[in-house]
Amino acid sequence: MAKLKYLDLRQAVIDTCLRMNEEGINQGTSGNVSVRTPEGFLMTASGIPYDRMKPEHVVEMDLDGGYVGEYLPSTEWRMHMDIFKHRPEAGAVVHTHSIYATALSCLRKDIPPFHYMIGIAGGTTLRCATYAEYGTQELSDAMLKAMKDRQACLLANHGQIAFGPNLEKALWRAGEVETLCHQYWAALQAGKPVLLNERQMKTVLARFKTYGKQPDELKTGDALSVIGPVRRDAPKRAAPRVLAARKKAGKPA
Ligand code: 13P
Ligand code: ZN
Repeated sequence: MAKLKYLDLRQAVIDTCLRMNEEGINQGTSGNVSVRTPEGFLMTASGIPYDRMKPEHVVEMDLDGGYVGEYLPSTEWRMHMDIFKHRPEAGAVVHTHSIYATALSCLRKDIPPFHYMIGIAGGTTLRCATYAEYGTQELSDAMLKAMKDRQACLLANHGQIAFGPNLEKALWRAGEVETLCHQYWAALQAGKPVLLNERQMKTVLARFKTYGKQPDELKTGDALSVIGPVRRDAPKRAAPRVLAARKKAGKPA
């Protein structure tokens, strides 16, 4: 057999599927995972249990709906392909039938900003796409619409889908979506949740842009996610005159 392309990336897809099941956000052969490649993307094969999935079961696909090899890709290849086609920032996609996200998707309602973490979906709501049958272009079109300015959404009477710049971030986001749905469901049992308003969510969303970033990853003008602490051991900088002299002498600042 010809040597498989992207062996490490195929294994990373399988590891993500296994983690998805270990973390309790999926079960059985439900759900599917993909990752972008220079030519298109790698997609889990349809209906193969993740604990039996081998690198050859991760199917190479292009962005025109073509695939390579003996195995059929996931029934949901259209949703994955359309995210890679329409969202250049997407590096990986995770689709799951996690319990609470799926339960709330059956209500066919957007999840409102009951908690600031709703911002992880990219806006003030976690939208629910209109119902369409699994594996159809109609489902993918509905998903893309619900994903406008978002990186995750619910799929009516089906589950959820999330993307990220890489497999780790896509899996993280799918886990957060499930946690939010669980929390919202719990809040609804206890009463009527008080929602955050537009103004409150606006500042959260600005700060979320740098959430998880460390100082060396920040751009000037970025709203800081972490407010307030003063660095006590900040490296002392020499006076500007001394710095200029050092520069002139070709020495580091
Ligand atoms: P596949 O096994 O074809 O990926 O299908 C699982 C699924 O979740 C369909 O929506
Ligand atoms: Zn599904």
